Amino acid sequence: MHEISIAQSIIEIAEAKARQENSRCIQVIKIRLGEFTTVVREALEFAFEVARLETLAENARLEIESVAMTVRCVICGSVSNPVRAVCLICPQCGLPLEVVSGEEFQVEYIEIQIEAERV
Ligand SMILES: [Zn+2]
Repeated sequence: MHEISIAQSIIEIAEAKARQENSRCIQVIKIRLGEFTTVVREALEFAFEVARLETLAENARLEIESVAMTVRCVICGSVSNPVRAVCLICPQCGLPLEVVSGEEFQVEYIEIQIEAERV
């Protein structure tokens, strides 16, 4: 189950950011997850629940935005969304398609609680 190590790296990224901002509490972590990754959303959510314990993200909410997979033919440029059965061949040319989106896996933003200094 590699989702655990992914969840851990998400938290590490968020913690690094929080430390930068002198915050000790991460509130929201939003990530973009492409459909064309091997990451299972439910497994990642579960892994996050476990991995966040005793970190700055202990009370953080994980938001996952799914990014649909799109592919493009390198010859005719036609863009499509392959349906489930991933067939990466252009219906027009019969040539391999390149993946345009859906491979995303990134931390989009992190909301942190700023320490009470300014209040
Ligand atoms: Zn084509």
